[in-house]
Amino acid sequence: MERIRKAYIYLVAIGSVQKRLLLASAKNIKEVFGFEVRISDVPVYYQKAYNPSRGQFLASLILERIKGVELPKALKVVGITDVDIYEGELNFVFGLAELGGCCALVSTYRLWHKDERMFFERVFKEINHELGHTFGLLHCPTPGCVMNFSNSVLEVDRKSKDFCERCRTKLLDIYPL
Ligand SMILES: [Zn+2]
Ligand SMILES: [Zn+2]
Repeated sequence: MERIRKAYIYLVAIGSVQKRLLLASAKNIKEVFGFEVRISDVPVYYQKAYNPSRGQFLASLILERIKGVELPKALKVVGITDVDIYEGELNFVFGLAELGGCCALVSTYRLWHKDERMFFERVFKEINHELGHTFGLLHCPTPGCVMNFSNSVLEVDRKSKDFCERCRTKLLDIYPL
């Protein structure tokens, strides 16, 4: 379903992300959120987020860089990266988002699976989850809801890429179709 309002959700590749994955992710976002999606190749300078002692990148710093990018009629901007990211005391995070804000970041690093369909499915779940946060949704305990908090890839596999009824209702309250 196409939203009446002309605002876009942007996908921005950070690092090396396959074109196939970007295209499939754009399709997934359109299906789940109903907004038109644009893939942007605007550069995001994220190298400063690298922490050599951990061999990982600080997620919040990359998110700051995403916020600094200017894109026309951007409702939300989602960065997808292939690098490993961490935050605070956590060993790693699958993604990070501003609650009720504009921007989100998802890392494919720990979502990889040799079966492309499985791999893409995991990425879609994390994108939908982080985007859900940007729309103001909190973590949700309903089994299978994409807003379940996931600490491991097993937990990612256990949830669906869709919102439970309660979360979907909240989403529609904010942006009615
Ligand atoms: Zn979350
Ligand atoms: Zn839910």
